Amino acid sequence: MKLPRGFEIEGQIIREAEIKKPDADTILRVVEKAQAGKIYSGMMDLIIGGTESLGSFEPDISIVKKIPLVSAEVLCTEIFKQYAISTKVENLYVCPFGHRTLHELTKEEDTRDDLSKLKIKYDSGDSLSPYQIDLDSTNEIVVTSDGSDHEAVRIRSLIFRDPTLEDFISIQNDSTQKNPLRALKKVYLNCLIDLDGDVDDEQVHGSEDMIETLKNRYSYELLAFPDIRDLNKVSYLLRTYGYQNEIEVVCGDCGKVFEDRVEWTGFFAYALRSVSKPTEKKVLSGRKQTTNSKGSHKP
Ligand SMILES: [Zn+2]
Repeated sequence: MKLPRGFEIEGQIIREAEIKKPDADTILRVVEKAQAGKIYSGMMDLIIGGTESLGSFEPDISIVKKIPLVSAEVLCTEIFKQYAISTKVENLYVCPFGHRTLHELTKEEDTRDDLSKLKIKYDSGDSLSPYQIDLDSTNEIVVTSDGSDHEAVRIRSLIFRDPTLEDFISIQNDSTQKNPLRALKKVYLNCLIDLDGDVDDEQVHGSEDMIETLKNRYSYELLAFPDIRDLNKVSYLLRTYGYQNEIEVVCGDCGKVFEDRVEWTGFFAYALRSVSKPTEKKVLSGRKQTTNSKGSHKP
């Protein structure tokens, strides 16, 4: 299968994966990880157990962790399909007025979202061009030196690479990152590879790797967008490829029509429940929703 977004290993861009049906041990291991809220390491195990090759490489940890999340989602869905499972997913949506609408399967109806109905966007470029956000002149990010008004950094545009499985595994393993927005910002900071603007800081100018020095010195301040919409833009931009997961939701309470995103992590937990069904009671007893609530970051 073709990956929506390629990734680079040893100078080669990998865009193809050959998949296979993962064995029972793999599925059990993935179920255990998902139960413990470790969705992203579960995805990595599933890809290692469900892939023959990635380009010309064997799917070992050092390679699989570099897969962009948007490609890992499509890859895991295809691997699950080897078990002929449904691609439908239950999701909870909240309207602008705070009402909750659940898309679910009940005795009466099935309002689940179907991943196979979502479009997948593929990157057809020759190279892996990074993602760039240009800020409006009134919304530039200004970072001041500690305790002074001195303007140390003024940012006009930011350049990001793809968030990978490794980025998400690192926030999932970081117990200090309980706040989902903060966790996402950590991913964005990891993925920040360059910026354009003015830097007035001698320590930074003297360094070999300017962006790394800036990140070490100013950390999240580099992402202190004056306008929240620019932060949202980052979120959308880093989801350029892969599932186009924006859908229209009608609020079951007030009828308001609004846009939201289908959470793929919901499908992961759901798919695992259906492939591990014979042992479901034993394996998942009393902890049914664990994976849904713990692993959902909106990249
Ligand atoms: Zn509503």
